[in-house]
Amino acid sequence: MKRRTFVKTASVSSLACALPPVFPNLSLSDYSIEELMGKANIELYGEGINLRKEACDSFLEMKKAAFTDGFDIKMVSSFRDFYRQEGIWERKYLRFTEDDGMDSLDAIDKIIEYSTIPGTSRHHWGTDIDIIDGYPKVTGDVLVPEKFESGGPFEGFKLWMDENSEKFGFYLVYTNEPKRRGFKYEPWHYSYAPLSIPMLTAYRKLNILKMLQKEEFLGSEHFTTGFVRSYIQDNILDINPKLL
Ligand SMILES: [Zn+2]
Repeated sequence: MKRRTFVKTASVSSLACALPPVFPNLSLSDYSIEELMGKANIELYGEGINLRKEACDSFLEMKKAAFTDGFDIKMVSSFRDFYRQEGIWERKYLRFTEDDGMDSLDAIDKIIEYSTIPGTSRHHWGTDIDIIDGYPKVTGDVLVPEKFESGGPFEGFKLWMDENSEKFGFYLVYTNEPKRRGFKYEPWHYSYAPLSIPMLTAYRKLNILKMLQKEEFLGSEHFTTGFVRSYIQDNILDINPKLL
């Protein structure tokens, strides 16, 4: 009897020794700076989905439910790392300053109507998606608000999402609330709240100003303290209050 107890205890403790070390910045309620800025190699799930596991599972459930109701949810964009966002930013910066001859600060204001500063995108987190309905025939850009409004090809789909997305944990981020500042209305951009709320909480604890001042992409030399403060206030935090 004594011996059995000993064997059992011994095997449990040797199993504990075999577990990988726990990194203090990777616990469930906390996220590393690299992860929050899109610079970490995070595990992504789902072919053509590329979300964190829990968000991917819930997305598939929502897709199934939408399909039953006659909509074919198509992913336009999901996870995007820092370097891809940097590419988007610099392409727009060059287009506005060199091709269109805009002043640097005006170009930055124009970019942040729809695009984020690299390192500040919710798409870095593996929780956010841009989606459309794959069924209707559509010409031109798909991510324009009019296509989701009355008479547009995604009108029915948007109404379905209004009714159902929150049941699956997906919330609209940039709503059409008239008093909201920051990014314009994006009826296609949803966030998986059970993961993105704690990630935003962790993100808010970072020194975003210091983080951005260390970066060296085109235009970043024009980021003043005042600019970054109002960007955080308007573009990062003035979102659907259910996501705060
Ligand atoms: Zn988006």
